[in-house]
Amino acid sequence: MGYTPMIEQYLKIKAEYKDSFLFFRLGDFYEMFFEDAVKAAQELEITLTKKNAGKDEKIPMCGVPHHSAENYIKVLIEKGYKVAICEQVEDPKTAKGVVKREVVQVITPGTVIEGAMLKEQENNYLAAVTLLEDSLYGFSYADMSTGEIFAMEIENSWQAVLSEVYNRPIREIVIDENLSDSEINDLKIRMQLTVSLPAEYSKFPEDMNHLLDNVNQSHLLPICQQLLMYLFHTQKRAFNHLKKVQVIQLKQYMNLDMYSKRNLEITHSMMRNEKFGSLLWVLDKTITAMGARKMKKWLERPLLRRDHIENRLEIVTGFYNQFMERENIRESLRLVYDLERLCGRVSFGNVNGRDLLQLKKSLQQIPQIKEGLEIFDNTAIHQLAQRVIVIPDLLELLESSIAENPPISINEGNLLKDGYNQSLDQYRHISRNGKSWIAELEQKEKEQTGIKSLKIGFNKVFGYYIEVTRANLHLIPTDRYERKQTLANAERYITNELKEKEELILEAEEKSVGLEYELFVALREEIKNFIPQLQNLADILSEIDVLQSFATVSEENNYVRPNFSSDGQTVLKESRHPVIEKVMSGDTFVPNDVALDNQQFMLLITGPNMSGKSTYMRQLALTIVMAQVGCFVPAKEATLAIFDQIFTRIGAADDLVSGQSTFMVEMLEANNALQNATSNSLILLDEIGRGTSTYDGMALAQAIMEYIHHQIHAKTLFSTHYHELTTLDQELHGMKNIHVKAEEVDGKVVFLHQIREGAADESYGIHVAQLAGLPSHLISRAKIILDEFELKSKEVSNTNELPSNCKEEQISFFSEEIEPKNKQTPKQLNELVELLYSMNVLDMTPMEAMNHLYTLQKKAKGLKGRS
Ligand code: ADP
Ligand code: MG
Repeated sequence: MGYTPMIEQYLKIKAEYKDSFLFFRLGDFYEMFFEDAVKAAQELEITLTKKNAGKDEKIPMCGVPHHSAENYIKVLIEKGYKVAICEQVEDPKTAKGVVKREVVQVITPGTVIEGAMLKEQENNYLAAVTLLEDSLYGFSYADMSTGEIFAMEIENSWQAVLSEVYNRPIREIVIDENLSDSEINDLKIRMQLTVSLPAEYSKFPEDMNHLLDNVNQSHLLPICQQLLMYLFHTQKRAFNHLKKVQVIQLKQYMNLDMYSKRNLEITHSMMRNEKFGSLLWVLDKTITAMGARKMKKWLERPLLRRDHIENRLEIVTGFYNQFMERENIRESLRLVYDLERLCGRVSFGNVNGRDLLQLKKSLQQIPQIKEGLEIFDNTAIHQLAQRVIVIPDLLELLESSIAENPPISINEGNLLKDGYNQSLDQYRHISRNGKSWIAELEQKEKEQTGIKSLKIGFNKVFGYYIEVTRANLHLIPTDRYERKQTLANAERYITNELKEKEELILEAEEKSVGLEYELFVALREEIKNFIPQLQNLADILSEIDVLQSFATVSEENNYVRPNFSSDGQTVLKESRHPVIEKVMSGDTFVPNDVALDNQQFMLLITGPNMSGKSTYMRQLALTIVMAQVGCFVPAKEATLAIFDQIFTRIGAADDLVSGQSTFMVEMLEANNALQNATSNSLILLDEIGRGTSTYDGMALAQAIMEYIHHQIHAKTLFSTHYHELTTLDQELHGMKNIHVKAEEVDGKVVFLHQIREGAADESYGIHVAQLAGLPSHLISRAKIILDEFELKSKEVSNTNELPSNCKEEQISFFSEEIEPKNKQTPKQLNELVELLYSMNVLDMTPMEAMNHLYTLQKKAKGLKGRS
């Protein structure tokens, strides 16, 4: 026996949507069957049942009511699943055999436009990627809610593709068969994306052809088609809010690779992977949601062209200088609604009366904003004002149509103003008057019957009725009154007159609501014609919003406008870290200077742990990013070169997801810098080599520095705990030693956080260990070992390696009874001390500290020949 015809139908449709949950409409429910049902029951925590499906065994089934389906869909989308909505497309009453059903939309993480599934201040992208030719990738991404579509070629490597994906709000990616398994895995596991296969169509939908105007002649055509076909396939329609594909030339922007985006915490903090604690968090004082989204986009792509940067800075200067005028603009922006997403919803056909009311209010602000910009004493702002174009036709249309307080629903009337449409006015007249007729009739009946408590009411079943309490029943005129309903202590009646009136009123009301719905839908259609203008307006308003935000933040935080040099000069006076200075409570941030140029382009930074080395390095990079997005910078004076790329290797962040060790990540990051940096780049290498054994690490660190110095000439900040490296300045003339000053007061370290010339003399590691509360006899022992070690190393001319002739003295560190096991002993001793040195005590848990101590002791025992 086969399945029932309905289940056969289900299976046929499901076969086309294998990667989605199929929500199969059955009356008032969406049902799921087979594996879908099992999985959905689990994910949605709903009951799994069984259904007779024709065969002997029952099949698994579960379902959700269609009126509350949205919540369930939301849960699945958030978990990265896709949902195909399959509706009944003919009336079940008239259908012969099984009701016809079709998938009307596939809701996917990358294509949602429903408000509840989107974050206001974030874009929501669907991307597509393909390998075009040897290590050249085609990449595109689109936001369905705002209509933007971007495409670019990515040279170099898969790594560069991941950098594009990383931290950008991409939820889903359409891939094709030429990606490798490990690449697909990166997208799924490391980047946490929903990975989708392309839609199978032979022909590109014609309605969408114009979107491809900018890529028709390019390599990028197929990838854009792949993206748009998928959109068409899932949404089952073309949209008029989609904008033409914009091609991004990556070379026109500063390149921030994935590691730098993460390490510098541009849009997300590393600790919590959220906005708080990031550069975006400090700079974002935008007022509109569109502005917030644009701010993030700008931070992800700092500019390279000096005239473009200067233009932004000029506008920021204008906003900065005129506080009151800026405040007025900010006030007006507060009343501007999310026009970008509104266009998407107009195009989708799901705006309601309240949306249009907000659109009207937004448009009413536009003349004020334009005039508000014109009064600045700043030509760059005047140019901005020229791009603000009011849309009087649309405003007039909305002002004459939309009611002042429309309901959320568009099926209940009260959406439109009186006077907008004659027929509507007539119906409304009757239904409004009808209500007063009823009131009059009530009065008349009271008088005629003498029943004071008589009243006329309305319900959906009987329509209008006259209600008389039980006590008054003897007073009713039985010839006119017809009983309809009996209540506990009253009876309800109707009369001919009442029913006649009722018919007139209800008909008018019904017609009025119906007509209003039609008029509203027509109005919505008409607004579609204004989408391009509205999108332009959204674009310029969001730009104004970001620039006013830069000015506001710059003023609040005492930033200064940067100057740009063309000879590599990079000089900061009293530079600060924009984020740390904001989160420091109580203490004040200690400013420091930076001085680099094409001759002196490398700084080797030494200084104790926790003194501020990493902070100093990061603040230079953040300052550069801020300058190149067009914001003022946290310093007293700033002259900067324009940097093409920033590379960083900072901190010990294990890439837990991909399971790579700290040292491997360190080397990957370093390699990325070495392969791609130019003399116009900035490289930050923080304690490189720390993740491996001392000699390995030191050797690598020195070789990397030499390589950058001789081959790349990139401006480089290099911090190290290998003091041996500080002598390198004798050979590397572009390198200079600096250190972070710390002072010792009563045997304790005080961090001054001040950068000084020259190398640091002590590492203070033991003091930090002391601060961390390690046992005092351990600390004393470490001090003795250190003193003796330093004494010995001073006797050695070249400190990089201890010559073997100091073997005897090294052994006397411990005691006379030591019996060296082999000739490596001095090296092992040195290693022991180095291990102690390099312990990052403050980052350890007590358990880890114990373990390290144990290892140290084991090594020491080994040296002494015990086990
Ligand atoms: P290091 O890299 O030398 O170990 P960090 O740069 O991580 O040190 O700085 C450690 C802490 O010291 C920071 O979290 C911050 O609280 C503080 N700090 C760093 N630089 C400064 C500064 N210039 N002024 C004030 N506090 C600072
Ligand atoms: Mg550090």
